[in-house]
Amino acid sequence: MPSPSAQQILHDVFGYSAFRDEQQAIVEHVTSGGDALVLMPTGGGKSLCYQLPALLRHGVGIVVSPLIALMQDQVDALKQLGVKAAFLNSSLAADAARDVFGRLMRGDLDILYVAPERLLMANFLSALEQVQAGPGLALFAIDEAHCVSQWGHDFRPEYRELTVLHERFPAVPRIALTATADAPTRREIVERLALEQAHQFVSSFDRPNIRYRVALKANARNQLQAFLETEHANDAGIVYCLSRKKVDETAAWLKEKGWDALPYHAGLDAATRNANQRRFLREEGVIMVATVAFGMGIDKPNVRFVAHLDLPKSMEGYYQETGRAGRDGLPADAWMTYGLGDVVSMRQMLSSGDAPAERKRVELQKLDALLGFCEATACRHQTILRYFGEEHPGDCGQCDNCLEPVDTWDATQPAQMALSCVFRTGQRFGVVHLIDVLLGKATAKVEQFNHQQLTTFGIGQALSQTQWSSVYRQLVAAGLLNVDIEAYGGLRLTEESRPVLRGEQEVWLRRDAEPAKKSRTSKAE
Ligand code: ADP
Ligand code: ZN
Repeated sequence: MPSPSAQQILHDVFGYSAFRDEQQAIVEHVTSGGDALVLMPTGGGKSLCYQLPALLRHGVGIVVSPLIALMQDQVDALKQLGVKAAFLNSSLAADAARDVFGRLMRGDLDILYVAPERLLMANFLSALEQVQAGPGLALFAIDEAHCVSQWGHDFRPEYRELTVLHERFPAVPRIALTATADAPTRREIVERLALEQAHQFVSSFDRPNIRYRVALKANARNQLQAFLETEHANDAGIVYCLSRKKVDETAAWLKEKGWDALPYHAGLDAATRNANQRRFLREEGVIMVATVAFGMGIDKPNVRFVAHLDLPKSMEGYYQETGRAGRDGLPADAWMTYGLGDVVSMRQMLSSGDAPAERKRVELQKLDALLGFCEATACRHQTILRYFGEEHPGDCGQCDNCLEPVDTWDATQPAQMALSCVFRTGQRFGVVHLIDVLLGKATAKVEQFNHQQLTTFGIGQALSQTQWSSVYRQLVAAGLLNVDIEAYGGLRLTEESRPVLRGEQEVWLRRDAEPAKKSRTSKAE
């Protein structure tokens, strides 16, 4: 009997009529024994790239995955398709583990998922040598390969030891997979996993079915409520918050408002986390309010929205988190509220931690790229892809900037006023006080510091409070002002602000949309 073709298994086992994009080339390459590095966005269909060759090749395919919580789901799904799949990790009882181990040694498995720490145990590696000599090893798949990168927040030290697979099993093909595409991470994966000879398969990272929107933060909760009511009344989605406390509070608040919302963060006990995750995955219309601890590897195709109430830490983070929406290819929303307070608190958080200086510098740069994205006036799809080194023609018709083009205005003079106000007040005050000074408000603080004597006092009355806040936010986002963590969020000038103050550089800012129901008199227009 001729061995079945890839196409046949795709159809008969997985029930798909065709390969997607790069899948076929990857499957063929790995099946014929080549190493591969696969960069594919979340939802692109990475699993098939190792599952299918594991079935086509002789022996068992070993899948290394850091996501213990999700192995069960993946194995269950494969079993339903009639594939002999199992997993080995610390969650398994001793006799169940023995059983799986026996099946591995007997050649009674097509695919085995293993946690890296288990795989790396000396006796497990020796057992694999016996398997290779006996029933055979089809391949090694290294899932979530970006976990080797110490710059990413998913760093797993054990991943660095996975080169042992190459050393001890040079004849077994390896396929490393990740949805994290930026060039430094990619280089690190190649280097750390000894994949210099591997063929790289890079898919497009565009997610055309996701509509990206960044809303200016006025009252985040009410904005979220309105977003849910008008667009996602019965849909499953994820609401990301920065802190555990905010997750708990937001989930409780949504519940109070009648939404089926659950919290998820690393501070909850494992049983609650699992129960909540299970409900989110299995039931319809559950809203998961979560920190970034939630989501890696989550395979729920019909997540209709991802909302950010706080800024993610980087473009990579934003892309990953929003990428959990719309994996079924149907329209989905990535919606974020963002304001000056977020910029300040995120800068403070990143600068104040215990991390070494170099790491902080990298993290602040990553944040700056994200702020650039938030303030961008160009197509969001284009801006995201450009960050990952990919071209996009723009004009997607699927993002806020394309749907309602943003106006920009020459803000050179207001920017000079704003910067000079920072300078005259001694580079240690926050934005609320700075705006009071510009507007000429005789507040207690103004009087305490005698700021009504300054030449900048009251020179900014042509703009409203909201407009000044927009100016400051954009100046900080553009790096013309820095947040001083010693001075509790006071603003300081940067090197970049000098040419503006000297009148050598123009400043163009985006004109923020007016918050919907707020009535106020603007003297500027
Ligand atoms: P990733 O691991 O890249 O995030 P998955 O492997 O979980 O993505 O696949 C995402 C979704 O796409 C899954 O629901 C999967 O069943 C589906 N899928 C994968 N390949 C195909 C295909 N060739 N045709 C149709 N659906 C597919
Ligand atoms: Zn667009």
